[in-house]
Amino acid sequence: MKFVVTKELGKLAKWLRIFGFDTIYFKEATFSTVLIIAFQEDRIILTRNTKIGVHSGVRIITIKSNNLAEQLNQVFRELKSKPQKEKMFSRCILCNEELSHIAKEKIKKKVPEYVYKTQSSFVACPECKRVYWQGTHWGKVEEALHAIRS
Ligand SMILES: [Zn+2]
Repeated sequence: MKFVVTKELGKLAKWLRIFGFDTIYFKEATFSTVLIIAFQEDRIILTRNTKIGVHSGVRIITIKSNNLAEQLNQVFRELKSKPQKEKMFSRCILCNEELSHIAKEKIKKKVPEYVYKTQSSFVACPECKRVYWQGTHWGKVEEALHAIRS
């Protein structure tokens, strides 16, 4: 399941990436660009725009709510899917690239000292080189998951 998200749904795009879904997000893209990408890469379009209509060969989900938890709920409900815990935190929230494990000694200078001392497992983005560890967004992810399930 891959997505392309229109510009008004930046927060939703970020969270789909946290949940491990391949999600393209453009801050500035016309709808025709979005449509072409969705078609070429077999992506589902998520949008708040209600005037888009139906386009054959492309699945479009019109997001109804302004509330993030409700938006995520709607996406998973319509796709009859659920976020999977083991997939979470596998993707860079900025670049959408898949993260890979990185040796602890390589990131010593990139993370705060207390993080280095207390965390054992680190992942990094091959594109922007940003380093992630479990504490980075974990609390909020648990919260969001709870909101989706309840
Ligand atoms: Zn990145």
